[in-house]
Amino acid sequence: MANEYLNDFRNIGIAAHIDAGKTTTTERILYYTGRTHNIGEVHDGAATMDWMAQERERGITITAAATTAHWERFGKDYTVNIIDTPGHVDFTIEVERSMRVLDGAVAVFDSSQGVEPQSETVWRQADRYGVPRIAFANKMDKTGASFELVLGDIKERLGAIPAPIQYPMGEENDFKGIIDLVRQRAYTYTNDLGTDIKEHDIPEQFADKVEEMRAQLIEAAAEVDEAVMEKYLEGEEPTVEELVAALRKGTIAQKIFPVLCGSALKNKGVQLLLDAVIDYLPSPLEVPAIKGTTDEGGSKEFPADDKGELAALAFKIMSDPYVGRLTFVRIYSGTMKSGSYVQNTTKGKRERVGRLLKMHANQREEVQELKAGELGAVIGLKDAGTGNTLIGEDDDFVALESIEVPDPVITLAIEPKTKADQERMGVGLSKLAEEDPTFRVATDPESGQTTIAGMGELHLEILVDRLKREHKVEANVGAPQVAYRETITKAVDVEGKFVRQSGGRGQYGHVKIKAEPLPPGTGFQFENGVVGGTVPKEYIGPAQ
Ligand code: GDP
Repeated sequence: MANEYLNDFRNIGIAAHIDAGKTTTTERILYYTGRTHNIGEVHDGAATMDWMAQERERGITITAAATTAHWERFGKDYTVNIIDTPGHVDFTIEVERSMRVLDGAVAVFDSSQGVEPQSETVWRQADRYGVPRIAFANKMDKTGASFELVLGDIKERLGAIPAPIQYPMGEENDFKGIIDLVRQRAYTYTNDLGTDIKEHDIPEQFADKVEEMRAQLIEAAAEVDEAVMEKYLEGEEPTVEELVAALRKGTIAQKIFPVLCGSALKNKGVQLLLDAVIDYLPSPLEVPAIKGTTDEGGSKEFPADDKGELAALAFKIMSDPYVGRLTFVRIYSGTMKSGSYVQNTTKGKRERVGRLLKMHANQREEVQELKAGELGAVIGLKDAGTGNTLIGEDDDFVALESIEVPDPVITLAIEPKTKADQERMGVGLSKLAEEDPTFRVATDPESGQTTIAGMGELHLEILVDRLKREHKVEANVGAPQVAYRETITKAVDVEGKFVRQSGGRGQYGHVKIKAEPLPPGTGFQFENGVVGGTVPKEYIGPAQ
């Protein structure tokens, strides 16, 4: 088959609550996949996925760049494209757009915290986009870390079936290594650099627990696979290959979620996590083909095949100080060639693909083409925005399933200090709005004042910061206002499960609410407790 190369592809995202360790885990992955050569602490600015200065200063990841890495498994070279997803709810749109273009995800949890509220939000988004997942119980070395806590929370808070494929040897300070329940081998880490790993038999003290956990794992596999079920009913054990195949099948069907453990910071478990990405997460051939809508309203599918018609989605626009506008794309079908022309059916424009880049952790590789299943950046597209469909120059109109853009929830007034600032601000704001569809700019018809709207206080703070840094705009900024008063200024009572206070910071903080009982996708909770998103009217209760 022509598209056989795609069996060796994994397009994955790493999703987590802020502080769960997503940046550290991503950085370790990039280290072990060979493209970055210093393991640095995230918050001293060495994280390679964090592109912008603000991200480093704040220690959060805002951009959703795609990085190409390689991992060898059983002598075979796999391409792992890592699509960065942010950990802060202010940037939910960034999560949405990454969900659209990835085939599988690693959900990182802080083992001392279990499943935190925002991990739930991300989990539900992944559900909505049908993304198969494996879970990584990170920070097993931390005080309070508990593997059982994470497993219990996945079951209770996320309503998902965890399939632990590992078991930690010790927890907290005693966390020494990891038992692979599938292959029944143990790995002890003798230092914190992860350079010295000893593979050995399962220590006697864990034998009973391992037996019990493995029996449960086989049961879970039997539920999703007939061959394993048949053996199970006969009282026979499946082979390792059969067990892996069954778990893989269940994971891709999102019936089960393999759970691994480790400590990214102490370099424990990251290589095994990469093995699991290969073993359990789908290749582009194993996920449903993306669909598009034709001119007549019909539906058309684009199976992953580099010889098919070109179908690509732009999912991130970035301005780069060296090369200008970068449009990150995922190619679903066909091949995009540098120097060719494409149709942007969303904008109704014909555009020229200038150069094509594959991004690695610490280098950019110029390529002549990007094939179905690949992700990369295009230089030269002037009009493409997030969520736009790109197809072949002569192909018939089609609009690919795109990315949901939520309405902004916070606005603030912004007043340039001088006339020159005003001019620069005009340019800067339109650039930023182009990159980020959740960022809106408006002029009050009465006062002539410019207001900007976004997904949260931090979101706007960062945009104002970027105006200053990248566009040299000095401006006075008003207090943030909640954009949709009727949805957030009152206390909210959802099915009587909670009601919390209003008030808070300046004119901004209003309602403290747990997002949990809201229907998926309608609302979310900011770190400071303020709810964002559009809470349906019927969920709004009287002010308290
Ligand atoms: P992110 O916000 O999810 O990207 O999280 P970071 O990777 O920035 O990590 C948040 C904090 O947790 C940082 O101070 C990390 O050093 C720390 N951290 C990350 N992984 C681990 C781990 O495995 N063990 C411990 N003890 N701390 C960790």
